[in-house]
Amino acid sequence: MGGRLLKDKYAVVTGGCRGIGQAIVERLVREGARVCVLGRNKVFNETLQQLEKQGKVFFYQVDVANRVMLEEAFAWVNTEIGELDILVNNAGITMPGGLESLEEEQWDRVINVNLKGIFLCSQIAIRALKNKGGSIVNIASMSGIEPYAGMGAYSSSKAGVIMLTRQMALEWAQYNVRVNAVCPGIIRTPLNEYLLADPEIHAARSALIPMNRIGKPDEIAGVVAFLVSKEASYMTGQAVPVDGGLLGSI
Ligand code: NDP
Repeated sequence: MGGRLLKDKYAVVTGGCRGIGQAIVERLVREGARVCVLGRNKVFNETLQQLEKQGKVFFYQVDVANRVMLEEAFAWVNTEIGELDILVNNAGITMPGGLESLEEEQWDRVINVNLKGIFLCSQIAIRALKNKGGSIVNIASMSGIEPYAGMGAYSSSKAGVIMLTRQMALEWAQYNVRVNAVCPGIIRTPLNEYLLADPEIHAARSALIPMNRIGKPDEIAGVVAFLVSKEASYMTGQAVPVDGGLLGSI
């Protein structure tokens, strides 16, 4: 990897303005793709601003839980940028809170963004992807495999993402569309900065991980770039842990 594996490919990355999504956008562009970020707020860092000026990165404002906005966004991508080859469903939110006290609205919001959002984006994107034999990667989580205290709604949504990935892979293999998931462990991003900024919590979390360190967004992005490339042409329906060895050690 590290060449031009995705030359002339068109990609959508949801939630690509920061954290893991931003690293995925930058990585796909380095591999030669043109990428449209679908997100709620356009907050591009300097690198993304430069790539936008070069016509390699674009932005369309959506809430991934809103079908009407998504229909408009994907129509715009296919006509104004290029017919889609790659979809990375990355947008996600957490909702800390034990199940006993979790509000129904909180549960609904997590499921709507993390799980239904992937269903909606993929159902719309498959119309273009099936013409070209494209690829989808869903960002799940290792907490979709193992329960995580105080993260009941989040873990349930991510377990759903893993099964949705397998289901889409099964149904869309006939179109030569591959669908895989990546299950990150603990990756330092704005999502968990409120926790990891505390040195004690940072050290305690690192100590849980056999590799004894928190992951970096680019370490997820590299695996995503591999999965959407022809290097992974016989992989579909898989949920790949990228977690420094965390899974299996807890
Ligand atoms: P961040 O909170 O840093 O980024 C999430 C991105 O998703 C933001 O750009 C946000 O945009 C966007 N987003 C959230 N809700 C919506 C929505 N309804 N519609 C469109 N965009 C939305 O999170 P991470 O980078 O850490 O996480 C990325 C993915 O990785 C998520 O799916 C997360 O669950 C998963 N993950 C992260 C781990 C970690 O340790 N960081 C571990 C395991 C999985 P905006 O701010 O504009 O809403």
